[in-house]
Order: sequence, then C-alpha cells, then structure tokens
Amino acid sequence: MIVMKFGGSSVANAERIKHVANIIKSFEEKRPVVVLSAMGDTTDHLLEAADAALEGHITIDAVEKLHMDTAAELGVPSGDIVKLLGELRTLLTGISMLREVTPRSKDYLVSFGERLSVRLMAAYLNSLNIRSVFRDAWDVGFVSDSNYTSADLLPATWENIRKELGPYRDGKRGDGLPIPVVTGFIAKDERGFITTLGRGGSDLTATMLGAALRADEVQTWKDVDGILTTDPRVVKEARTVPVATYDEVAELAYFGAQVLHPRSMQPCLQTGTPVRVKNSYNIDAPGSIIVTRHEVKPPSVRAITSKKNVTLIDIVSTRMLGQHGFLAKVFESFAAHSISVDVVATSEVSVSLTVDSEKAHFAGLRHDLEKYASIDIRKDKAIVTIICDVRRSSSILAATFAALEKEDINVQMISQGASKVNISMICDSSEAQRVVQVLHDRYFGDAGIATGEGQ
Ligand code: ADP
Ligand code: ASP
Ligand code: MG
Repeated sequence: MIVMKFGGSSVANAERIKHVANIIKSFEEKRPVVVLSAMGDTTDHLLEAADAALEGHITIDAVEKLHMDTAAELGVPSGDIVKLLGELRTLLTGISMLREVTPRSKDYLVSFGERLSVRLMAAYLNSLNIRSVFRDAWDVGFVSDSNYTSADLLPATWENIRKELGPYRDGKRGDGLPIPVVTGFIAKDERGFITTLGRGGSDLTATMLGAALRADEVQTWKDVDGILTTDPRVVKEARTVPVATYDEVAELAYFGAQVLHPRSMQPCLQTGTPVRVKNSYNIDAPGSIIVTRHEVKPPSVRAITSKKNVTLIDIVSTRMLGQHGFLAKVFESFAAHSISVDVVATSEVSVSLTVDSEKAHFAGLRHDLEKYASIDIRKDKAIVTIICDVRRSSSILAATFAALEKEDINVQMISQGASKVNISMICDSSEAQRVVQVLHDRYFGDAGIATGEGQ
C-alpha cells in the first residue's frame, strides 16, 4: 500500500480536486491512504477570521464561499460542509464575545480547513464510484501532546494507526474496503482537545501513516517538481534534486525550505519508508525520492536554503569563556527562557548563537546573561545554509568564500553542523537573497556543473 498526500495548492479548487481524484484513481490498485491539507489558503483565512473575531467581526465569507462553491461544482451534497461551517461560526462568535483566542482555540479553529477538504474529496470520489470514506485524524489514531499550535505525536499513535487502518492495508483487491481520506495537520491530545502539528504539518501526518503501516512509499504531491536546489521563488533556475536522504531533507526543512515540515522525516527515518515528492501540476516529472542513504555518489553540494527573521546573540566574557561550566550556564539560561538555539559558534572570548526572532522574548534572557557576560543582540539577520557533504568542507568553504568575496559580500558568522550535512552562515536579512543567488549560481550554474560540485 501507499500513502498519497496532497497539499493545499493541489486541492485549491474544484478543478484541482477533480485532477487529484484522477491521480488517486490511477493508483487505486496500490491501496492508497490519502492525506489532504486544507484547500488553498484556507488555514490563513481561518487565522485571519480569528483576528477579525477579536475585533468583534465574524467573517467566514471566503471559507464558506470556497467550500460551498466547490461542493456545487463537484456536484456532491453539502450537508457535512454546512454542519461544519455552522460549528465554525459558533466558535468565532465565542471568540468575538470573549475577545480572546488561546492557542487551544486557535487549533480548534484551523482544524476546520482539513476537516472540510476531506469531506469534499471523499464525497467526490464516491460520486465517481471510487469507494472512499473521510476520516478525521483522531479517528485513525493520531494522539499528540498538548503543545497547541506545534504539537508532537505521542508514541501510541504508531499502534493506534495499525489497529485502525491495518485491515485496510491487509485487504485484498475487490474487497470493497473504502479508500481512507484522512485530515492532515491535526490530532487530539489525551484530554480530547484538538491540536495541530505546526504549519505544514500534513507532511508529518502522511509520513507517520506511511511509517506506522509500513507502506511501500509515501508520496507528497506539491506544486513544484520535487525538492529543489533552492527556493524557486528566490532563484527561478532552481533544479530538482533527484535523490536526497532523510537527514539532508530534515536539515533543509529546519533551515527554512518550506517544501516539507521540519519534523516530517522522523517517522520514515525510523522505518526506512521511502518518501517521494511529486508535482500534481506536472505528473510526468520524476520528482525527488528521499531515502536512508545515497547509492550513487551525489554532487557534494545538494541544496541551499535561507531562513530570515533570525536574531544573532554575541555573549562576550574574557574572564569566563575558557572556564569549565561556562557554556553549560549559557545554555541553562536559554533553556530557562524556553528559547531554542539554531546555530552556534565560539571564539576565544565570545560565543555567538542564533535564535528565531518571532519565538523569543529577550528581556529575561538578557537580564540572566548580563550577570556574567556582556551581551550584544542583533536583529534582522538570516541564516543561509549549504546542505552538502561536509567531508568536502575545505573545498566547499574555499569555493563559497571565493564566490562571496567576488561579490563583496561578508558573512558575520559561520558554523558547520555536527550532523555532517550542513554549513550555515549568518548575514543581514536584506542580503540573504543575494547570498543565496550567488551561491546557487556558483554550485548549480554552469560553473558548478562543470566542476561537478553542483548537479
Ligand atoms: P504543500 O502545501 O503542497 O505542502 P508548500 O507550499 O508547503 O506545499 O511547499 C511547497 C513550496 O515550497 C513550493 O511551492 C516552493 O515555493 C517552496 N520551496 C521553498 N524551498 C523549496 C525547495 N528547496 N524545494 C522545493 N520547494 C521549495
Ligand atoms: N493547512 C496547514 C497549513 O497551511 C497544514 C498543511 O498544509 O500541511 O499549514
Ligand atoms: Mg506544506
């Protein structure tokens, strides 16, 4: 059996849903479990509706129109949709009366997007005589912790999924068991409250299902020809990466590539289940395949990513830095303020670290650190990461700095990841795009291809 996940842009309207139904039909023999995201920008629209409700306005027009129009265009009954839209309106009324939205109610709110899309798709497949049934993720075993807006799945999910969907997986051709169409992105915690797995979380739903069911493969269908050498919105010449490892993709996602959810590689890494990234707008393109290790030696530089909205913190202490226990103390302070660190570099007198600007509140941290060091906090930075074979780091670093020097670009910090697949550099946010462009050109432009470093 296989898992087929379709992201928001793949199911953005009735026409796209019809197209996806055809793709599902073409894989019917493989006993697919289907995972869907919310249609188009529905998740964003729901979050905007929460903001409006906080101001006292209840607006679900965009969400209502999209789903009602789509039901009509697909020619399927809209009863389930109307019921959910009613529940959504009640929730927004509650938010507007309380003038408060907690992380828990936010998750309940955005869950409507995926719950609506699976109902439409299952109804449409049935109307084509492809037997299917919509399943809310919690009904097929997804249970998470209570870290609302970015919940982690609990280990019980593995066995739960096998119990719920094992019979479908083990069924025989012609047994009439319907294709499950499962909501991506959402789960319930142990108290029964709805949670979400973080933006882009449908990828994780799909890989979790694929790993738990020991699927032959997980297919994630997007609007690009697979994993690309960099963000195609930054560099339009970005090329497809035909084969990548789970480690490489995890780093790529963690360091800013939107293409897959940062934690989505974890389940399949454990089971070795291959993950394929395909383009629903270009079915014939081979896409990318993600596996445990490379069978054929890949180019030494695989991809380049950037992550903006980063803050660089320099902690300077001539007195303390060399002494034992100093770094432990520094990291304890970050842990105490629940601030997670992305990139670290040390020199003789300072340790420099980067943190995500949006998530961190710096006042308390600064207060703690200033007890034993002087602190310099610089905002509006970006991390540019080269996903590569760091066994070739000397030549990659030499080529990288030669290319940057030629363009008169100076980076402010550099760090080589212990995971052996990345080299990260810090620059000003305003320069990130240019750095990515220069490096992409160096490794994936004609010169890179000639030296075999790029593709
Ligand atoms: P989906 O909703 O189908 O999961 P996303 O929009 O979340 O799709 O992710 C796909 C998008 O990620 C692409 O349209 C592309 O603009 C962006 N992207 C950024 N970096 C990369 C990359 N390295 N490879 C492929 N796509 C990337
Ligand atoms: N709909 C959710 C989002 O927009 C989850 C997903 O698409 O994977 O983030
Ligand atoms: Mg996504």
